[in-house]
Amino acid sequence: MNHDLKSLAVATCLEKKASLTPQRLLILETMERQKRPVSAYEVRDILVEAGNSFNIATIYRVLGFWCSHMLVHRLAALNKYVCCAAPEEKHTHIINCCQKCQSTYESCNKQMGIDLDRGPESLGLIYAANTHLEIPVICISCR
Ligand SMILES: [Zn+2]
Ligand SMILES: [Zn+2]
Repeated sequence: MNHDLKSLAVATCLEKKASLTPQRLLILETMERQKRPVSAYEVRDILVEAGNSFNIATIYRVLGFWCSHMLVHRLAALNKYVCCAAPEEKHTHIINCCQKCQSTYESCNKQMGIDLDRGPESLGLIYAANTHLEIPVICISCR
């Protein structure tokens, strides 16, 4: 596991007073190795293949835990999960998912030139914290 991600996981758990259980660590580590978004069932299959048996409810719970702390993102459009590529990013995380090959590219609202504060203000809305946006794209190799 990437040293930074591991220390971030440790720091997150300390800050939230949550324990970094072996299950949480193993699932985060598994997520980090995936090149494409994966479903909870795919995560389970990968773990089973590696000799670990988890029930699906545990996997959903652990993924939900990491999602709530922004180390993993759940892509609503695909109902799949992807490891956050920029956990230190303070702007709104944007997951650009290729509609053809499902590769994901993480960016943020500043990089995408989207002003999330000014836009909704005229409607009396503010953008919710601790969440991400999903923007469908076509990647450079699928264009
Ligand atoms: Zn992210
Ligand atoms: Zn693509």
